[in-house]
Amino acid sequence: MRKIFVLFTILLFGCYPKNETQEPVVKLASTSVHDTPRVAKAKNVILMIGDGMGITQITAGMIKNNNRLNLERFKIVGLHKPYSSDNLITDSAAGATAFACGKKTYNGAIGVTPDKKKVATILEECEAKDMATGLVATSTIVHATPASFIAHQPSRKMYEDIAADFLKTEIDLFIGGGKKYFDRRETDERNLYEELEKKDYYVSDYFKEDMSDIKFDPKKNFAYFTADDDPLPVASGRDYLYGASRVATGFLKAHSKGKGFFLMIEGSQIDWGGHANDANYIITEMLDFDKSIGAVMDWAEKDGETLVIVTADHETGGFSVNLGSTQDTLVTKFTTDYHTAEMIPVFAYGPGAEMFSGIYENTEIYEKMKKAMGL
Ligand code: MG
Ligand code: ZN
Repeated sequence: MRKIFVLFTILLFGCYPKNETQEPVVKLASTSVHDTPRVAKAKNVILMIGDGMGITQITAGMIKNNNRLNLERFKIVGLHKPYSSDNLITDSAAGATAFACGKKTYNGAIGVTPDKKKVATILEECEAKDMATGLVATSTIVHATPASFIAHQPSRKMYEDIAADFLKTEIDLFIGGGKKYFDRRETDERNLYEELEKKDYYVSDYFKEDMSDIKFDPKKNFAYFTADDDPLPVASGRDYLYGASRVATGFLKAHSKGKGFFLMIEGSQIDWGGHANDANYIITEMLDFDKSIGAVMDWAEKDGETLVIVTADHETGGFSVNLGSTQDTLVTKFTTDYHTAEMIPVFAYGPGAEMFSGIYENTEIYEKMKKAMGL
């Protein structure tokens, strides 16, 4: 079956469109978002990205979790096409920029177009509408995925420039690693940790796994550094994504003053397990992400006005679970230590969720989220 899928993928994408203006070789019926029925407005949008989380990463996590995942609570499922403007195999910067800005761009680009022009992100557009905004990640907060929602830089490696871009926004909450890019910078003398405090942020680097006793001031914005550089893998003791997801939803709801919020939550290290060709790394990160999905869904079901989207930027590792596997022992294989071209599942819940069924470009996730919010 997998071989057939791969063959189909190769046939379909053998001559993939380099950009959206080029006609695809295989003509398909229109899948425009405008074909979808009118939907009730979503006040809040929570976009959850499992970096490198393809179907097999999900499947492996599910098998090891007694065949169940919180992802099964979503009734609307679709697929997106993850290729970037310059490569059939996207990286996380181009992948996240597609979600954040609705533009296909080159691998490595952070919130800029193929000609390196800045383009507004959905987070910035929500800020402009006086909504609350937040970013949560289990990588550094300046890593490609969160960066693409708040920064505009020609290269994902410009971590200190990306950190400085955080100060140009009014983001209400961010939680992730990478404190050193803020307070011990090599490219200038600025101390962005202190600048955040002066800008009326409650800033903390007090790493506590149970975030319930954080004494933040609800009137201030909130910046929380979970590590100096990359946070640990779950298997080495990291355990904040679930707590951070709960804190972020409640905090942003209170901060939004009824105007709604946009929140991106990333399970960053599923991808790193794929790059390392380490099935256990993938599975432990996948289940940590799924636990946070459960926390978000519990909150969204009560809230009733929130659209929740769970997806990935791309698959990593060409991961497969093979003959001879049992629930206890999976027989796994990898075809690469980089990303693959596989289409990526999209799970949707809440007002506007119907728009996310079917097959569409990764850039349409941006359009659909905005349409759901009436922006
Ligand atoms: Mg990432
Ligand atoms: Zn990767």
